[in-house]
Amino acid sequence: MPTRRTSRGADRTRLSGDCDVLVCGGSFAGLAVARELAGSGARVLVLDRYEIGERQTSACGIPTEWLRTMGLMGAHRQTFGRLVVHTPFGTSVLELPWTFSTFDYPALCELLWAQSEAEFETAKVDGRTADTVHTDRGDLSAPLIVDALGWRRVLGGGGYQPPDAPLSRGLEVHPWGAGDEMELWIDRKYVPAGYGWSFPAEDEVRVGVGSFDPHFHVKDTTVMLAEELDRDPVRYQGNWIPHRLRAATDDGVFFVGDSAGHCLPLTAEGIRTALYFGIACGRELRAVVEGRRPAAAALSRYGDFSEGHRWKFEAMLAAQRIVPRVPPGLLHRSIRAMQAKRFVRYCKNVEAGRE
Ligand SMILES: Cc1cc2nc3c(=O)[nH]c(=O)nc-3n(C[C@H](O)[C@H](O)[C@H](O)COP(=O)(O)OP(=O)(O)OC[C@H]3O[C@@H](n4cnc5c(N)ncnc54)[C@H](O)[C@@H]3O)c2cc1C
Repeated sequence: MPTRRTSRGADRTRLSGDCDVLVCGGSFAGLAVARELAGSGARVLVLDRYEIGERQTSACGIPTEWLRTMGLMGAHRQTFGRLVVHTPFGTSVLELPWTFSTFDYPALCELLWAQSEAEFETAKVDGRTADTVHTDRGDLSAPLIVDALGWRRVLGGGGYQPPDAPLSRGLEVHPWGAGDEMELWIDRKYVPAGYGWSFPAEDEVRVGVGSFDPHFHVKDTTVMLAEELDRDPVRYQGNWIPHRLRAATDDGVFFVGDSAGHCLPLTAEGIRTALYFGIACGRELRAVVEGRRPAAAALSRYGDFSEGHRWKFEAMLAAQRIVPRVPPGLLHRSIRAMQAKRFVRYCKNVEAGRE
């Protein structure tokens, strides 16, 4: 097990050795895997090129219940019971079947990390040969390897090359300020296929634009939306967002979160899915390190589990393709119809498994 901790620059030391589980990527997916292995007795090492929580990767909006159930309310910023949707034809206010909350990214990562018993090192992961992972600080080996490195899927084959890959493009600014509503803009003046958003988070507002078409550049319209809202276009944050499910296992490696395309098409929600599949992966790994299951069986079970959700991802991808083609007037009327109490009740029942 590597024992030397590092910092930056000249103080960086070489890493070498092995551990039971090597989790590459220390954001939502990687931390959820590590958390699930706490108490298993396994030697778990998490690698990330940045310190935990250092680089925010999203607008950090999630159903509140996920924060509550996972003991993460300490990172909570603001809760919304409704969603305000703007189209060129008017504004609709949709009561949500469950509340959404924004959270603080560094605080959430710290809370997840505190629930794990793993070790952490900063290192840039460059690739893999069999059970050895190559990093800019040396090679590390483990019988169980997890790629939670995001859309680049560094440890797998068939890498994506934007913009010619099934990736959406997201960019946001984080001006200081406050707001009461979680808002979306479905308006072609900001993006031909996609949406704009404003997510208040107590003392800052996350304003951005996401495009389902990776060729459409969202910087100008992100600035436009921010300025129209009287917000300063400052503190940028953006990334590619996968909208296609990929194999969750390959050549002995477990892929979780964006590296497996576990981000929902249409809504571009990838946090709760990263946590969800991270927990599933962690449970399989736990069964292996506790001697209850061979690694091959865990790989196959986790791969099947992810595949079992494919139809939902495909259905949402179909919706992602259809929605931008709906004439804006008709889209507005459809969204307005969702304001009906009956529709909200139906969604609640679906969520509760009663429909
Ligand atoms: C602008 C924007 C807003 C979004 N808003 C939301 C939202 O409000 N709600 C929501 O549910 N989803 C949102 N998403 C999607 C969500 O951010 C992702 O789906 C989610 O972050 C996926 O989590 P992950 O852990 O799989 O990957 P990531 O969060 O991308 O984490 C990957 C980790 O791997 C590390 N890493 C990458 N490459 C290397 C390497 N070579 N070596 C070492 N470390 C490496 C990174 O530093 C990072 O810590 C948004 C995305 C964008 C771009």
